[in-house]
Amino acid sequence: LAPIDPRDPLGIDDLFDAEELAVRDTVRRFCAERVAPYVADWFERGEMPTVRELALELGRIGAFGMHLEGYGCAGASAVQYGLACLEFEACDSGLRSLVSVQGSLAMFAIHRFGSEEQKQEWLPRMAAGEAIGCFGLTEPDHGSDPASMRTHAKRDGTDWILDGRKMWITNGSVASVAVVWARTDEGVRGFVVPTDTPGLSTPDIHHKMSLRASVTSELVLDQVRLPAEAVLPGVVGMRGPLTCLGEARYGIVWGSLGAARTCLETALDYAATREQFGKPIAGFQLTQAKFADMAVELHKGLLLALHLGRRKDAGKLHPDQVSFGKLNNVREAIEICRTSRTILGANGISLEYPVMRHVTNLESVLTYEGTSEMHTLVIGKALTGLEAFR
Ligand code: FAD
Repeated sequence: LAPIDPRDPLGIDDLFDAEELAVRDTVRRFCAERVAPYVADWFERGEMPTVRELALELGRIGAFGMHLEGYGCAGASAVQYGLACLEFEACDSGLRSLVSVQGSLAMFAIHRFGSEEQKQEWLPRMAAGEAIGCFGLTEPDHGSDPASMRTHAKRDGTDWILDGRKMWITNGSVASVAVVWARTDEGVRGFVVPTDTPGLSTPDIHHKMSLRASVTSELVLDQVRLPAEAVLPGVVGMRGPLTCLGEARYGIVWGSLGAARTCLETALDYAATREQFGKPIAGFQLTQAKFADMAVELHKGLLLALHLGRRKDAGKLHPDQVSFGKLNNVREAIEICRTSRTILGANGISLEYPVMRHVTNLESVLTYEGTSEMHTLVIGKALTGLEAFR
């Protein structure tokens, strides 16, 4: 047998078919050419200056809503979509967030719960990257417990009037359309809100130390008047936003491992050439123990992601199973990134290397789409039948 490949020591690539590997290669090449050379600078400046051009380019490679069918979407499998998320996040979690929020949250909400008119109006433009979408669920006082949201919508004749405030909204100020969740007399409902609607403003959130190459904004809704047809007709209640979040979490199960892979590969390259005490630091047992643990966790995580992806493609993925993936893979990814940072020593804290950027990005990934604690409680409930959320 030939020696194992350090980049794929368990031979997991053999478990993907040619089309899956082709999607991976396309996204990997796109990231290497169009984002990787610039992203450290965007991160340092705390902006994504070419987000609109980038969105058009992402549209051209079919990245937006790629796992959705029709309306200009690529109709890819769950595993193909997962591999794309991994490659985007191997570049930067902010890039993967742009793609996830667009495809898995905003487009998915319209695709799953929207009227035919809403789908026709928004999905083709969003798939092409001509319109960016955002997803407003979290509020200043309601994060892990979104069911307690205060934002509300009242009927005024046939119109709706929305009032409230959403916080930490990815893509907010660059979006053309916001999917906003609000309480109504009938229960929580989703609204498709063009962002030029009077009464809606989207101030950016500054001073982030994480996901700096990603736009994060508030959505302030002050007497926003919408026509009757702005409501998503297909769902009433928290099942709406929670179903969308399940989609985006699935992408994170894969994506987080991309950040981990970049850090591990950076540390391996670094340790091979960095010498201390007369030899490469890769030759010290303590460094090798770190590499062994990181590789074991990265490739176990990949097997878990692939297992969940195959179940999703078979229509058998339960949301609680996604919690296993989100909890484990983000937790292990952040650990891999932090350990890689130690191997780079002082260089580990420099933006000259991608490692610290990924470490701080994953702090957001640990928190959004359900914190680690929430996923722990979901799994706890699934195992015991007892709810420990309150
Ligand atoms: P809280 O809910 O206040 O939680 C604080 C801590 O308490 C956490 O550790 C939490 O796990 C813990 N906790 C809470 N309840 C319990 C409990 N019952 N038992 C044990 N521990 C508990 N939201 C959107 O709607 N759209 C977006 O596009 C979006 N993008 C984001 C982008 C970034 C960069 C970030 C950082 C966040 C984004 N979010 C978005 C918001 C994100 O989903 C929330 O931050 C997340 O749900 C957690 O809510 P919170 O920050 O209010 O924390």
